[in-house]
Amino acid sequence: MRPFSYARAGSPADAVGQFRAGAAYLAGGTNLVDLMRLGVTAPDHVIDVTRAVSREIAKRESGGLTIGAGVRNSDLASHPLVRERYPMLARALLSGASGQVRNAATVGGNLLQRTRCPYFQDVALPCNKRSPGSGCAAMAPGADTAHLAVLGHSPFCAATHPSDMAVALTALNARVCVASPAGGGSGTANTGGIRVIEMPGLHRLPGGMPEQDTTLRPGELITEVKLPPPPGGRQAYRKVRERASFAFALVSVGALLDVGPDGRVRDCRIALGGVAHVPWRAHAAERVVLGAVPSAEVFAAAARAELRYARPLPGNEYKVTLARNLITAVLGELMP
Ligand code: SF4
Repeated sequence: MRPFSYARAGSPADAVGQFRAGAAYLAGGTNLVDLMRLGVTAPDHVIDVTRAVSREIAKRESGGLTIGAGVRNSDLASHPLVRERYPMLARALLSGASGQVRNAATVGGNLLQRTRCPYFQDVALPCNKRSPGSGCAAMAPGADTAHLAVLGHSPFCAATHPSDMAVALTALNARVCVASPAGGGSGTANTGGIRVIEMPGLHRLPGGMPEQDTTLRPGELITEVKLPPPPGGRQAYRKVRERASFAFALVSVGALLDVGPDGRVRDCRIALGGVAHVPWRAHAAERVVLGAVPSAEVFAAAARAELRYARPLPGNEYKVTLARNLITAVLGELMP
């Protein structure tokens, strides 16, 4: 590990004021410290933000929730309002990592965790995300593609985003507030150095710049996440993985289904994990379901619509079938 300096920040303004090229923010450390040990990343200055951002969960006047970026994953999962009103989020959190990791990991850090592509973590192998222009070991013949994308990837990178929580937040239309050294920008609301990013929108597809995981600008710090008032209907989060715990999703689905008194779907949200560089909002599937009389046939048609343009890699073709079946099954479970 290379030498680095360490400083604590007392507020978001203090943190972004300390930031400089080559620095990194440290929260729970459950991902950053591992990557530093592996040599994947080597910041020369680490800014501890655990005392800079809120660790509170507060009910908003609108009926939604404000979640401080420093809230621990375990505290968020067990909060009574989250369990009662956003069960998809509670289930997503509890399906991630282990109890010990959830006790340390924070909401802000969870959103910004990096891919678990095995070739990204092996500094002896080429990886465009870790070392732009070096190539992609995951695309080589015989590579392990189980945790690689089937949607939205590019010839430069097919990594997937590992967060379960981010999938639920994407389906719930969460907004992410960031303290920005330079203020706001196009496509976002900007209130005195705080930028608000709608989800989906925090994470980005790899294109020709897989080294950029998110739409955050240098030095920006996630301060809180806002959830809109709880939606009607029923919610679920289901994750398929290679072992029962402490494993990342091969495919996961966060979904919400609300059927009106006329028997037609008046709200449907679907987000997928494990299939793309971003938590994937399944807009094509939602369009099929919205306004329809719900049935197994409608749900299957929705799943087919979403996966129509999937481009699996050699060895992960089964994830397309898995995603289709999981969408159909989860929506079926949500039928009133
Ligand atoms: Fe790196 Fe992306 Fe290729 Fe994985 S898929 S080796 S993260 S460039």
